[in-house]
Amino acid sequence: MRDRTADTQRDTAKVPDREENMNQFDWDHSFLCDFDLKKGFSQKAETTKRYLSQMKDMYYDTEAAGKILEQEDPLIYEFYELGCPERAGDLAFGTTILYPGKVGGEYYMTKGHFHTQLETAEVYYTLSGQGYMVMENPEGDTVEMPLAPNQAVYVPRRYAHRTVNTGNEPLVVFFTFAADAGHDYGTIETKGYHKMVVEKDGKPVIVPNPKW
Ligand code: MN
Repeated sequence: MRDRTADTQRDTAKVPDREENMNQFDWDHSFLCDFDLKKGFSQKAETTKRYLSQMKDMYYDTEAAGKILEQEDPLIYEFYELGCPERAGDLAFGTTILYPGKVGGEYYMTKGHFHTQLETAEVYYTLSGQGYMVMENPEGDTVEMPLAPNQAVYVPRRYAHRTVNTGNEPLVVFFTFAADAGHDYGTIETKGYHKMVVEKDGKPVIVPNPKW
């Protein structure tokens, strides 16, 4: 039986205060910051955390998700939201840490999103770990790119994007995008992506999402 009290606490858990984070960095006169999270973050910025309970319906095997949640509510990923002002011309950036694991046969992944301003791109650079960037545009064109250390992937304008961890260690990626791009999670939440990344014979394979 799930503990609803724990859920409620989680939902209202302290979300990093945007202003608090924003005020630590000089967005108008330059600043340095350390993103090697394996050695510790040099600033006091807090991460935003996503637990399985917050995205259980995004996995194909909802039954497997339910079984995991009967036992625990694993942290799937967390990311630094530095509070970049959402002004035209600014570049928001940060780091996402996506943990290893699976729900049924499907690897841990981020929620993924379109940008509200659809015509804005994004760059991801992999610091450590292995995985995929899974992308699709509103017309249903799909693209998957491998994520590997010291490689950048360009997420083109108009493509929703989600990262998937297919390895045994945290997948750590640096990202940067137009600060006023905005995030649209809803569109992709209803049906999910056209493609999903699952383990087959011990290896990751990209398969069509049967929900489509
Ligand atoms: Mn984005």
